Amino acid sequence: MRLRQKMPTQGGTKRLFDVEALIHWFAEEKREFPWRETPSPYAVWISEVMLQQTQASVVQRYFLRWMAKFPTIRALAEAPLEEVIKQWEGLGYYSRARHIHEAAHYFMMYHQGNIPSSYEALIKVKGLGRYTVGAILSFAFKQKKAAVDGNTLRVLTRYFAIREEVEKRQAQEKIWRLAEELLPEENPWEVVEGLIELGAVVCRKEPQCSLCPLRSSCLGFQQGIQRELPRKGKRVAITSLKRSVFVIVCEGTLLLKKGIRGSLMADLYEFPFVEGEKKGFPFDFVKEKIQPLSVEEHHFTRFKVTLYPELWKAFERKEVPGYEWVLYAEIGKIPFSSGHRKILGQLTHAYFTH
Ligand code: SF4
Repeated sequence: MRLRQKMPTQGGTKRLFDVEALIHWFAEEKREFPWRETPSPYAVWISEVMLQQTQASVVQRYFLRWMAKFPTIRALAEAPLEEVIKQWEGLGYYSRARHIHEAAHYFMMYHQGNIPSSYEALIKVKGLGRYTVGAILSFAFKQKKAAVDGNTLRVLTRYFAIREEVEKRQAQEKIWRLAEELLPEENPWEVVEGLIELGAVVCRKEPQCSLCPLRSSCLGFQQGIQRELPRKGKRVAITSLKRSVFVIVCEGTLLLKKGIRGSLMADLYEFPFVEGEKKGFPFDFVKEKIQPLSVEEHHFTRFKVTLYPELWKAFERKEVPGYEWVLYAEIGKIPFSSGHRKILGQLTHAYFTH
């Protein structure tokens, strides 16, 4: 017997959602990831936060490294924040790493180092939103809870031909309600994860409907509007910035600045820079320019930044308020912003040996 969930649609009429087809497809097609092998609450939590802004194929490497470094919540809570940020380096949106660290302390203090299994207890924790809480309860605790990420949202808006702008509260509530209603009593997590997987590999931005197990009942496909959905409101404009960056070496050390707590680059190190292209040297040092370095670009939040780096040699390690001279040999241990990490990649050991 086929397992179909009766679903209300926008007009109140009932539709069928072919849960069995989705479960079958998921069992056959799902990708193997380390966090799927042993979905402990801790593994689900860390992997889901990493996956929020980064592709699964990239996250694998970070996840395995993270678990080797911090195998338990206790190990994570006891690690210094700088080490935690260092493990996050390259994933971006560093507030996530800070929140994870804070949450690890919270779990140690209030839950004996365990992750609680109730929505009410989890939603209070810093950095955990409705999606991540749903994912932990579904994948790790096998509860009948939905978790709607961007992938599931894409599948459901197309499947049910939801035309409202998806950022709107009402549309969000509708999508979450549908996601809850289609869960079966038995192994509901397979549907939650199956929807996410379907959105990630088939119902992508450019949908691969010919490969989709839901095609025969998908309203968006039937109406030929799947590419127009989900409808989104105005996007946040991207701001372009240009920065002159000064890589200053002196006796095997580099002048660096640590991002101030509360700023976008909090706890990350960067070379000195000034806003604008090809600006003059900003410090009062005796120095000489060694060479210009290659221009680098990087993106963070709503910024696109072009970096114009130059390599300079200082003849004295003058103290500069807010900056520190860091041994080149120590550089590998500290977290850099990704743009400045690219510049660092251009430097060779030779610059620091004389
Ligand atoms: S049929 Fe196409 S639009 Fe509908 S869920 Fe499948 S891939 Fe998405």
